[in-house]
Amino acid sequence: MLKGKTALVTGSTSGIGLGIAKALARQGANIVLNGFGDAEGPKAEVAALGVKVGYHGADMSKPAEIEAMMHYVAETFGRTDVLVNNAGIQHVAKVEDFPPERWDAVIAINLTSAFHTTRLALPAMKKANWGRIINVASVHGLVASAEKAAYVAAKHGIVGLTKVTALETATTGITCNAICPGWVLTPLVQKQVDAKAAALGVSNEESKKQLLAEKEPSLQFTTPEELGELAVFFCSDAGKNVRGVAWNMDGGWVAQ
Ligand code: NAD
Repeated sequence: MLKGKTALVTGSTSGIGLGIAKALARQGANIVLNGFGDAEGPKAEVAALGVKVGYHGADMSKPAEIEAMMHYVAETFGRTDVLVNNAGIQHVAKVEDFPPERWDAVIAINLTSAFHTTRLALPAMKKANWGRIINVASVHGLVASAEKAAYVAAKHGIVGLTKVTALETATTGITCNAICPGWVLTPLVQKQVDAKAAALGVSNEESKKQLLAEKEPSLQFTTPEELGELAVFFCSDAGKNVRGVAWNMDGGWVAQ
């Protein structure tokens, strides 16, 4: 379905980003990975699916590095056909205790980076009259939780950016939508599981159960593979008139 197309997935050396990158690769898309830590393992996992793989280590909090990454994709692969804005971090603290530099980092990585990649990807997508922009928001783009001020603000912001981008491209072959996962057991969430286990003096398993029970009625984690299949749907021809939605995959979290 995506043969000959190139997908750039930010923050894809781990977790949800890597899951989405692999799902798009299974559809034939060439993949550009981005993110910190080991890139060789993820590159090999994607290459094993029979597509071309690139990598750029841009720090998504730095606009000049984001620009360099977008040039790299254009020069190496021709164009970004599918843009998945996924890189994200979390910081948990009450508003009055929230370190201002953590606020700035969360907003820069979880929100502003998507503005930069989107503004830089759109001209070539418009020329081709085809493109898919998928913003990985969160249930926290739809509802709030205590002690996540920067994250909730950034995720509500990216849902807004999604809607504006969808409106500005509504008469073209470009769509923009957001995915809103509930709990997904990635390193980002494992840190919160660990913090709860330490605070309550309970096991890792018990901490996971309690985390799910607080918010997610299905009592099950959503998986990167499931989110990857939702991204594939947004890229499909059947998804071409799905525009500006914030689609939750959250075990019933925001139905409550
Ligand atoms: P993760 O920690 O497994 O992966 C985050 C990725 O972002 C990694 O590849 C990391 O290297 C990269 N990254 C972090 N800072 C970066 C920076 N400055 N520049 C470039 N890359 C950077 O986390 P995840 O759970 O897979 O999260 C991916 C996205 O999904 C995030 O936007 C997160 O907010 C969102 N999300 C996660 C959950 C969940 O339960 N895990 C739920 C809803 C939404």
